[in-house]
Amino acid sequence: LEKVPSDIEITQAQTPKPVAELASELGIQPDELESYGKYKAKVELSVLDRLAHRKDGKYIVVSGITPTPLGEGKSTTTIGLAQALGAHLGRPAFACVRQPSQGPTFGIKGGAAGGGYSQVIPMDEFNLHLTGDIHAVTAANNLLAAALDARMFHEATQSDKGLYSRLVPAKKGVRTFAPLMLKRLKKLGIDKTDPNSLTEEEIRRFARLDVDPETITWNRVLDVNDRFLRKITVGQNDTEKGHARVSGFDISVASECMAVLALSNDLADMRERLGAMVVATSKQGDPITADDLGVGGALAVLMKDAIKPNLMQTLEGTPVFVHAGPFANIAHGNSSILADRVALKLAGTEPGESSDKQGYVLTEGGFGADMGMEKFCNIKCRVSGLKPDATIIVATTRALKMHGGGPEVTPGKPLHDTYTKEDLVTLKEGIKNLARHIENSKKFGLKVIVAVNQFATDSPAELDLIRSESLAAGADAAVVSNHWAKGGAGALDLANAVIEVCEGESNFKFLYDLDISIEDKIAAIAKEIYRADGIELSELAQKQVETYTRQGYGHLPICMAKTQYSFSHDPKLKGAPTGFTVPIRAVRLSAGAGFLYPLLGDMQTMPGLGTRPGFWEVGLDETGKVIGLF
Ligand code: ADP
Repeated sequence: LEKVPSDIEITQAQTPKPVAELASELGIQPDELESYGKYKAKVELSVLDRLAHRKDGKYIVVSGITPTPLGEGKSTTTIGLAQALGAHLGRPAFACVRQPSQGPTFGIKGGAAGGGYSQVIPMDEFNLHLTGDIHAVTAANNLLAAALDARMFHEATQSDKGLYSRLVPAKKGVRTFAPLMLKRLKKLGIDKTDPNSLTEEEIRRFARLDVDPETITWNRVLDVNDRFLRKITVGQNDTEKGHARVSGFDISVASECMAVLALSNDLADMRERLGAMVVATSKQGDPITADDLGVGGALAVLMKDAIKPNLMQTLEGTPVFVHAGPFANIAHGNSSILADRVALKLAGTEPGESSDKQGYVLTEGGFGADMGMEKFCNIKCRVSGLKPDATIIVATTRALKMHGGGPEVTPGKPLHDTYTKEDLVTLKEGIKNLARHIENSKKFGLKVIVAVNQFATDSPAELDLIRSESLAAGADAAVVSNHWAKGGAGALDLANAVIEVCEGESNFKFLYDLDISIEDKIAAIAKEIYRADGIELSELAQKQVETYTRQGYGHLPICMAKTQYSFSHDPKLKGAPTGFTVPIRAVRLSAGAGFLYPLLGDMQTMPGLGTRPGFWEVGLDETGKVIGLF
């Protein structure tokens, strides 16, 4: 492979086409496009109504083997394949990717625009503010946090009647309930609409949320790797004397508002989900929601533009939707349902049109297939009702050798010789990891295509071995792809394999039914996907499962919060481990996003900066151009 320049050098050598031109090529009408500068635009959701009659394009989730900390090239492959299908084979092809957080962009991982000759451009806009969606998520999250603390403060300092008369003030002698107050009255079983008719007891129940401070799960968020905000004390000023409590900040993309954005089917659905988010439990044991605090409507207003997918382009001028970026452990780690839906319609066919016109939507699932693909199927597709056709599992010799016994791969340190020289023995042992991901994907009825993301040091015998073993493990195709060095031209074999394998109808199915118990759902994932012997719930987890079941959340799907570095809960167990039991430390609820998340280890929801973060390199050159992003 020839010498490939740095990611930012490659992207800055290419001039993107104006986004209006891109949109018109895709059949998006001018009134469906809202430009944010020259190269980015939001697409109005009305396009879904206009194209409702179309048959959707093929739907493919790009996933991967259990990765090393360097990443195995899921984003790069998603973009490279879209370039091959769109720019070389003339098929409508959309890449749907997550919006990266600014935390890792300035930290150690760098951006997430792909790499080499397979990237989203302009890369600096992609990796930084984009169209402000993460800022909107931050604003919504923090408004809710402020609403909760303020309400607790007022409840603590006022009598029932005083509280009531301020909540429902008399204007010109007349008291009226705000619409969300009527919702709360209904929830409390108080069938009254006249504010003057409530009994003292009803006034107390209505006006007091009675938050149990010990049960608050809602943190503030910020899109910066700021470790000193992990644990803080709020309410230290004299004006809040006596109300200080320990709280914390998470990174913005860990906010439930972000998971809601990713899992909403339309604006009304997003509004309902935001209102249903639970922030704490009352002293009586009832869940307290954003709507109980009266703030659900305002949250939806803050996020009304964020819900529209962002259109950008690849280096080769094919379309990319960049939309939502929820965490891949405490949330489901997939880009938005709405971006996928819009892409599936734009890539779809008119009634009677030949299937040669059929397009492809490649959507990425974060982490390995045991996380991203499993959650894509069991959570995202359950909410959307969409049926995926296939999964692409991205593999590298590097990660497979690590699973076969190779030494730890550490960012910033040179790679051990095993990874740069031919080593078929270690590789063959490590392929057991890939084989298990292939078998798992088959359990969802998906077609499986293995994409071997080629590195300059891979030997032909190594690449052949991965291909033949993949086919033996049940993959429908296994192809070497060279898109990092060659762009779309390097992914033509992969593109042709995708076209061939995706013919026919989808046989997609879920792994578990929603109506079984929470514990059984967790066990199904642990046994079928991780291949554990079973699960073991801590006392705390057991209690939480009982509470959530009693509160009516037992029907939700499960979003496992686990390490991405192993099939198991232990990052050190590489390859395809067996003979372990998965400990469930605790179970948490994302009622608005619509899942329960069992914690299998300590999950860091606010990353930190290392001694030498990526920002040292980032700056502006003499012409004002951004340099140093990667
Ligand atoms: P993932 O999405 O799986 O985390 P990425 O696509 O972001 O992985 O790739 C991780 C990093 O590896 C990026 O910096 C990318 O440029 C680089 N990379 C990906 N594929 C190759 C390749 N074939 N050769 C060299 N570097 C690559």
